[in-house]
Parts: sequence; C-alpha cells; structure tokens
Amino acid sequence: MKKAVFPGSFDPITLGHQDIISRALPLFDEIVIAIGINDDKKYMFTLEERLQFIKDTFKNEPKITVTTYKGLTIDYCKEVNADYMLRGLRNPADFEFEKAIAQTNRKLSGIDTLFLLTSAETSYISSSIVRDVLRNGGDYTILVPDSVRVK
Ligand code: ADP
Repeated sequence: MKKAVFPGSFDPITLGHQDIISRALPLFDEIVIAIGINDDKKYMFTLEERLQFIKDTFKNEPKITVTTYKGLTIDYCKEVNADYMLRGLRNPADFEFEKAIAQTNRKLSGIDTLFLLTSAETSYISSSIVRDVLRNGGDYTILVPDSVRVK
C-alpha cells in the first residue's frame, strides 16, 4: 500500500495545496494531510479551524485523512507507516529550501519526498498572501477552497 504524508502549516489551506493534493491522489492509496504543530509559531487560524477547513475540503475523498503532529516529520511518517512525503514546488526558492530538507530526511530515515510542480493557475498563491489579503479586507475567496470562509 502506497501511503504519503503531506505536511504543512495550512494557515489556511489554499487552492495551491488543494491542486497538489488532488494531482497526487492517483499516485497513492492514501494521503495523510498532517498539520505540523510548532509552539513557537504564531498562526492566524487556530489548529481546530485549520483542521476543519481541510476536512471540509476533502470530505468526499476516502483516500485522504487529516491529522496533526508534533516533532520531526520523518518520525510522524514512521508512526503512520508512510514511506513517502509529498511537497509542492512553486519557484527556485522553494526548490533550494526543500532540497536540503528532503536530502536530510532521506539520509536520516530512508523516507523519500515526492515533489509536484505547482500548476500555472495557482503558482502565485501562498498562505501568507491569503493572510495578508484577509487582514486588509480583500477578496480572499478566489485564493482558497470554498470551505475556507471567515465570519
Ligand atoms: P510549510 O510551513 O511547511 O511551508 P505550507 O502550508 O506553507 O507549509 O506549505 C505546505 C506545502 O505546500 C509546501 O510543500 C509548499 O511548497 C506547498 N505549497 C504551498 N502553496 C503552494 C502552491 N501555490 N503551489 C504548489 N505548492 C504549494
């Protein structure tokens, strides 16, 4: 059984994340979307909100589970018996950053990272841009799945 963990902050999930996950679905039997908990980081959305947004987005997709974890992502992958990690690449900066992490992870654990290149339509989207638009009262809804709505 091919299982991948897609780790991230998802603060909040965007159409960019959704695109990568949807395109990876045919490659795996199960994808675990895992929100990493970092106590030192300030988030705009609570953990519960971030979880709910992702669960609602993929509520009709039986191959997807949504969880949270603390500590090293490779340890979490082992805990849930996933041999692969999934990440998305938007630009050269993502590549440089991800390369070092993926190589370290593989050295430490044997777990390989699968990268999918962002779609042209979503390549400019990031959670931080969504947060910026939100803070300043702009229309964030064109950047996120329908499940992400702020009252
Ligand atoms: P992290 O804090 O780990 O970077 P994010 O939630 O920001 O968590 O991102 C999780 C993953 O989704 C990363 O691999 C990131 O490169 C990818 N990603 C984010 N936005 C996009 C996008 N627009 N297109 C493709 N991949 C994306």
